[in-house]
Amino acid sequence: MNLKQDIAQVVGAASTWALKDILHRPAANFPGKVGLYVDPELLSDLRPRLREGSVVIVGTNGKTTVTNLLADALEASGKAVVCNRTGANLDSGVATALLQTEQADWGVFESDELWLAKIAPQLQPDFVVLLNLFRDQLDRMGEIDRIQEAIAGALEASPSTTLIYNADDPFCQAIAEKTCNSCIPFGFEEDLGLAQNTVADASMCQRCDSLLAYEWRQYGQLGSYSCPNCGFKREDPVYAALDATPTADGAAFTLRYPSGSVRVSVPFSGTYMLYNALAVYVAADQCGAALSGIGAVIQSFDPHNGRLQRYDIGGRCVLLNLAKNPTGFNQNLRIVLDVPGPKAVAFFINDKEADGHDVSWLWDVDFQELAGADDIVAFAGGIRRNDMQVRLKYAGVASQLVDGAGDFLEKAWKAAPSANCFLIANYTALPNVKAELDHLARDESQGVPPAHFRREESGFYHYSENEPEERPATHPGPSPAQLGEKLTIVHLYPELLNLYGDGGNVTVLAERARKRGVEVEVVRVEHGREIDLDSADIVFLGGGPDREQRLASHDLLAQAQRLRSYVEDDGVLLAICGGYQILGHEWLLGDGSVPGLGICGIVTRRAQGGSHNRLVGNIALESPLAQMPVIGYENHAGRTFLEPGCKAFGYVKGKHGKGNNDADGVDGVRYRNVVGTYLHGPLLSKNPEVADWLIQRALERRAAKGGRPAYMLQPLDDSEERAANEFMCAKLGL
Ligand code: GLN
Repeated sequence: MNLKQDIAQVVGAASTWALKDILHRPAANFPGKVGLYVDPELLSDLRPRLREGSVVIVGTNGKTTVTNLLADALEASGKAVVCNRTGANLDSGVATALLQTEQADWGVFESDELWLAKIAPQLQPDFVVLLNLFRDQLDRMGEIDRIQEAIAGALEASPSTTLIYNADDPFCQAIAEKTCNSCIPFGFEEDLGLAQNTVADASMCQRCDSLLAYEWRQYGQLGSYSCPNCGFKREDPVYAALDATPTADGAAFTLRYPSGSVRVSVPFSGTYMLYNALAVYVAADQCGAALSGIGAVIQSFDPHNGRLQRYDIGGRCVLLNLAKNPTGFNQNLRIVLDVPGPKAVAFFINDKEADGHDVSWLWDVDFQELAGADDIVAFAGGIRRNDMQVRLKYAGVASQLVDGAGDFLEKAWKAAPSANCFLIANYTALPNVKAELDHLARDESQGVPPAHFRREESGFYHYSENEPEERPATHPGPSPAQLGEKLTIVHLYPELLNLYGDGGNVTVLAERARKRGVEVEVVRVEHGREIDLDSADIVFLGGGPDREQRLASHDLLAQAQRLRSYVEDDGVLLAICGGYQILGHEWLLGDGSVPGLGICGIVTRRAQGGSHNRLVGNIALESPLAQMPVIGYENHAGRTFLEPGCKAFGYVKGKHGKGNNDADGVDGVRYRNVVGTYLHGPLLSKNPEVADWLIQRALERRAAKGGRPAYMLQPLDDSEERAANEFMCAKLGL
């Protein structure tokens, strides 16, 4: 031991004691934090406490579950294990776990993706298990490339580490390709035949930026892929899962590994749990654990940490789960929909630091799948419950706001007395929801009658009774249906420019037009397809990562004249962030300059520091297109400048947000019927006036072409949208 380590040990022990015994708080981070302050090399200094070695688990989804299961599996095979079981996954969490242990055989640690760069170089783990990389907390992570760079850098600084990775994920495969460390791929050797979701990451080759071809896709970007251009492909798994079949409570598969095979049964719903189980088997096998004992570990897995945690409250099944990004959410919706009978589901969404302040991603989740089921009642909770409610509304699902788990259960059972209840919460929303459920379950097991859950025999609750009336049309003119009004919305490159929930703008436009009786057709134009704008009324371009943006822009440039003519003919065009940048004369990618469409008088440059120097955060604008403040979220590296005479979309209001660039105090551009802006959110979800401005312009253009007067849009009931807008205004001090 060195002196610094001695002092770190003493302060670590003292702070653990003070936190646990005096303050009755968990001591999962603080002791390590002070320890690292005293001894910055603490992880490396404490490494000898691990007799056999260490494993670090990273990945967007499943880290905590895999970490706990692996620790259990190693313990079941007789090993002493130290583990940051509660998910304190920064270097301080790992240091705390090590400080609180004298000796162990194995260290099993969960690590945050970006923090692996701090943890791995010091710990020099024997294995890093890389589970998957999905879009998550983009306000903290930037674009996914940055996470890949961080993980690859961490591996480079820990050359003796073996990378165990999910070869079904092209993001993970790309990291394996870049690293010199030895690698062990795992994956599913067959198509699981799952229905696909609307938005997924990484359809692009990680080597040459072409589009990947998929033989099959499981969910998200996971599947069997190859690049027709350069040969980048999924590596054949050394540990391969196959012959998956459903079981009464989950699914089973056969794991083929280098020295044999084993049938694995996973008593949990959700395909992601199959991947988690697969990763546990691979890592356990590599650590020398007996695979025969892992089945029992998985069967009895009940971490009590709110992940797939079951409660029995009021004689009904209540299931709590964490979901914090679109892929996780989509998987959770499948779990809910798979359960037969009436269901009540509540979504709790917070926007604290650990969740990401941006909730645009809610629009990348396929909530419309719930609308198809007629025995579901839905609820929205958490700090951003208004946003959640608006999202559900545009998915065709009416919902009530709730104050917490107890309030939800009370309302749910009033609405649907025999419903099974599901609570899906994001990161910081989970602990409160779980604490409430724990409390209710404890009261019940102690015989305390759950007074506020007494069922009222009022029968099923009908949402239609509670829906506020839409204001009647006040003008005497013909209705859109009588006029035969129809709008065609052309959504350009939805598979490439879709990183920040921007596709929600198309949903909002279509729904708001339909509610007025206008017939709407949405045409998705994917990469490589010809863009036909002859019957287009509104064109939409979303934002995306640099790589996808360049591919879309390249395609678009070849057809630029069509888009230019459409705009000069007063066609309506909404372009967000990356899509907005493309409208200008040029935009800069890394050090290179990419020619733009030249539709608007703007240029986009990079700030010093390249793509890491981003403008990220909530933003509010004052715009002539709306009386309410226009609220959104920006996340971009590019800085856009308006040429003289160019009109901005809005002026930045208050202290929040930058918009076009660091200095000008304006955001976006307006030209004829074009709106370009940096605002995600999606833009139109909390700013219905802007949505209606675009629809109205499109209807006017159509009417003018037909030589008839335009239908004037009648107001809708926007109370939910306004509440979401007002909540953000209050939050931003406006
Ligand atoms: N990739 C672009 C940038 O970073 C656009 C990002 C976005 O669409 N949010 O500037």
